[in-house]
Parts: sequence; structure tokens; C-alpha cells
Amino acid sequence: MIQEFKIKQEMCEIGRRLYAKGFAAANDGNISYRLNDKEVLCTPTLICKGYMKPDDICKVDMAGKQLAGRKKRTSEVLLHLEIYKQDPKVKSVMHCHPPHATAFSIAGEDIPTCVLPEVEVFLGPIPTAVYETPGAQNFADTIRPHVGKAKIVVLKNHGTVAWGETLEQVFWWTEILDAYCRMLMYAKQLGRVERISVPKVKELLDLKERFGITDDPRRMENADLCVNTDFGRGYSEPACGCPAPESSPMTPPASLLPTGAKTLDPATFEQVVQEITERIMAAVG
Ligand SMILES: [Zn+2]
Repeated sequence: MIQEFKIKQEMCEIGRRLYAKGFAAANDGNISYRLNDKEVLCTPTLICKGYMKPDDICKVDMAGKQLAGRKKRTSEVLLHLEIYKQDPKVKSVMHCHPPHATAFSIAGEDIPTCVLPEVEVFLGPIPTAVYETPGAQNFADTIRPHVGKAKIVVLKNHGTVAWGETLEQVFWWTEILDAYCRMLMYAKQLGRVERISVPKVKELLDLKERFGITDDPRRMENADLCVNTDFGRGYSEPACGCPAPESSPMTPPASLLPTGAKTLDPATFEQVVQEITERIMAAVG
């Protein structure tokens, strides 16, 4: 019982951090902890995660039936239970709406790998689960393909869900991912995203194994180390499907282009240089 109370206290502390970081607005998000193979502690519905007390925490069975707690359990507990059922090692699950990571899924951008050492070592590839209306079992089912292959997943147009062995770990995974997504956005605003080379990523994966983290799916499946490389393109290529601008600073005015030419290919460029040179020579001579 003392142990259970301590876990409830820790859930409240993690809730405070979650709310302070802006990962869960108003009553968003939910946290759970598996006590044993029959009982799971979870946060109640309609409560701000920043102001929970141990008494607010509910207890459910593995089917989601409420066993204890004066408040109604979160409707999203089915998502948590699906992860516990799929992987017996998982002790804690956290779902929330961190803005930067969620923005990637809203924009239809998958999270790239091979950019930041911490992400390679602690998270590995971060998949995006397909969209489904939150709350019911079909929403919980969207996570199933990713359990055992990732530690944190972005839920399309919704948020993230992280799982691990402790409450603190699932908060860390979320915090690392959202900080990473913020850095990617800043880098892309500056121009582009440059990647770590494949041999250097291999060194990071070796380091990861020396830390005792042996579950990177890229090693297990011998898959590509660097995925979702499209994010590095920067703004030089239009990403919106809109037409490219008519002229760029390198394109001379239409009056200087040979009749009928619209673009400046290498042959036209030569012609234009020739023409300008002749006009200058005529003017000075
Ligand atoms: Zn949600």
C-alpha cells in the first residue's frame, strides 16, 4: 500500500512537469502505471495534470474496468492497456499533446533520424500512428504495429504516446522528442537540416549498445539507419505544391532574354552574356 501511494505521488509529480512544459493544455493528457498483471493506476478524466493529488488517481483492471478511485478514469486508458498487453516489460505509459512533435504530424512530416546524437541513442526511429477518433478500442489499436519497435510514437493530428519502465522515463522520451522537433523547426527556418554521416550514426548505435540499450529496430532488422530524409530539403524547393516563382535574382529581365526564352539554361546564359558584352562594348566604344 505504501508502495502504491508513492507511485500515485510520483504520477502527480510527473503531471506537474507535463503541465509546466506545455505538453498538456487544460485537462489534456493521461499517465498510467502497471502495478501488477491485473491492476493499472491511471489519471482520471477531466483533470488538469498540473494540479493532481494522490487521491485523484484511479485504478483499473486490464479490460479498463474501474476498480478504485473517486473520479472517473480517463477514456484513453484503453490506449495504455493495449501497450501493456502487447509488451509485458512496459510499466508506465504517458499520452500528451507536445506542440512541436504534434505539429510534425499535422504538417504530414515524418520525424527524420540521423540528426541529433541524443535522439539516436535514447529514442531511435519515431513512427507516426494513423489517425483515429480518440477514446475507443479502434483508437487503441492504432498503436499496436509500433509496440516493441519504438519507445514513443506520434499520433497523427493528435499528440504522442510514450512507454517505458518508469514514470520518469516516459516523461524523458516525450521531453527529448519535443525538444528535437523544436530544433528541427528552428534549423529549417534557418535554411536546411544537415545530417550526421552514416558511419558516425553507426558509432552512436555502438555506443547505445554499450549503454545496454539493445532494442534499436534498425539493428534488429538490419534496416536503413537514416529515414524520412525529405525533411532536410529546406525552402529552396517549394513544398506546398505552389508554382515556382517566375523569376529569381539570377534571372535577367525578360528584355535581355532571347526571343521566346523563359528560363536561363546554360546555353541561353552564354547567349545573354555575349549580348550584354556586345552592348557594353558598343556603349564605351
Ligand atoms: Zn489526447
